[in-house]
Amino acid sequence: MTAARNAVDTHTHLSRWWRDIQETGYRRDIDYTLEGMLREMDAAGIDHSMLIQVNDAPSPPEGHAEARSLVAESKGRLSLISSANPTLGASAVEEMVALWDGTPELKGIKLFPGYNPFYPDDPRLDPIYEYAAQRGVPVLIHTGDTMDNWGHVKYSRPLPIDDIAVRFRDVRFVVCHLGNPWIDEAMEIIYKNPNVYGDTSGLLAHPSYPLFDRHVDLVRRRIQDAISMTGTAERVLYGSDWPLIDFRVATSLVTRLDLPERDREAILGGNARRLFGLPPPHGASRAGPS
Ligand SMILES: [Zn+2]
Repeated sequence: MTAARNAVDTHTHLSRWWRDIQETGYRRDIDYTLEGMLREMDAAGIDHSMLIQVNDAPSPPEGHAEARSLVAESKGRLSLISSANPTLGASAVEEMVALWDGTPELKGIKLFPGYNPFYPDDPRLDPIYEYAAQRGVPVLIHTGDTMDNWGHVKYSRPLPIDDIAVRFRDVRFVVCHLGNPWIDEAMEIIYKNPNVYGDTSGLLAHPSYPLFDRHVDLVRRRIQDAISMTGTAERVLYGSDWPLIDFRVATSLVTRLDLPERDREAILGGNARRLFGLPPPHGASRAGPS
């Protein structure tokens, strides 16, 4: 497999509140608009992306409203992942749960431990996990390094996710970024718990990094080793973290994995379609019998 086709990107961000895009985006002149994003998805063989509400919005309800309207504008190309921050208090969590309840198109909930100071097994999150179980939507959890150096990585190690995966067996969890650099820890939790998945997003340095090509190769081998060690390709999801990482470079991490073709295809789309309950590729569904 040389290029992705009909892929699902499980981890993208688009927001007017992401102001330092010129510095953090993979390219300075990136067209950071819905049109620009869809154009880049088309060029990289990505049929659908999960749009994750950013943590930089002035408040979670405002972030939710922005992501919701972008998803509506995307004409079926994006799905909504909303977010909540338990450190804002119980009533703020309740407010988000009420908003989600009025959002039929909600496809998942994202939490940002590390950026926000809480552990994934914090009891303040129980109402969110209970709602996710009842609604049947996955909970995505940031793990590993924080892009900003003001983050606190003691909160973002994967290990506490094991505890909630056991307590909330009906909730499917996604360990975002495979816990990088604690990839072994993340893979153990994915291996052990049938309701835990991992995504390959955000694992790459900025393209200006002097050893970028070697770095891409190293990360690809780390993903491959992690999957080979546990044998669980069926719960690994392709994700980029666009606009931080180029869709084409991110998909190449998967298309070049030394694994059976069906595993690479599952990571690029099939696993995500099953997890999020997505329809078949829009290209495929449009093509009627001739
Ligand atoms: Zn992200």
